Amino acid sequence: MIKIKSAREIALMRDAGKVAASVLQELESAIQPGITTAELDKLAEKLIRRAGGEPAFLGYQGFPASICTSINSEVVHGIPGLHRLKEGDIISIDLGVLLKGYYSDTAVTFGVGKISPLAGRLIDVTRQSLEEGISAMRSGGYLSDISHAIQKYVEANGFSIVYSYTGHGIGTSMHEEPSVPNFGPPGRGPKLQPGMVLAIEPMVNAGSAEVEVRDDGWTVLTKDRSLSAHFEHSVALAKDGPVILTIL
Ligand code: MG
Repeated sequence: MIKIKSAREIALMRDAGKVAASVLQELESAIQPGITTAELDKLAEKLIRRAGGEPAFLGYQGFPASICTSINSEVVHGIPGLHRLKEGDIISIDLGVLLKGYYSDTAVTFGVGKISPLAGRLIDVTRQSLEEGISAMRSGGYLSDISHAIQKYVEANGFSIVYSYTGHGIGTSMHEEPSVPNFGPPGRGPKLQPGMVLAIEPMVNAGSAEVEVRDDGWTVLTKDRSLSAHFEHSVALAKDGPVILTIL
């Protein structure tokens, strides 16, 4: 069942979303060659707790950190550690915040210093594909209108959508119904209505769509080791259109 949120609930989710967005902004200024992903994780945890929230990923199904850090060919769910970022890397940071009983979930892929033209284009296309998906979220439309808009934009730009992982509903749980695929024909799935809140999160590979999971049991990476990017917003549907919750 898809839970419809009240205006009060959406306002609380907006508060959680603002915390997540502000933490990502701080992380962006901390990202530079030489910093470790564990240092970024500690900084994120400190900032989330300082804002009165809890890191939603920490302990989630045993995940050992507050953020996911996925570098270059890593798609999602990378575990922070002693790895040091270097010039030219791209790093996807995914983070969730629990505040006053409500979750927010957001992700951005950043470049470290100067990145290749291909990496820059992959980041731009993935970011824009999220915007395309959000724009397709209309009251009276269908869930897969979002999926289709994302896939169409990504493939028109020569990149691949990751099929094995999807976005999701979000609210008093981090993952609620429905699942939000980043591919498929339009006009399918549940009808969209005001009060639905979705975490929309395209994962885009520069090479083939195929992915595998590293033997740490978490890190998803491209099978052909091509670059991958990931952007995510938690988005509420209001009567007159989508409202992004995970921005400042
Ligand atoms: Mg998510």
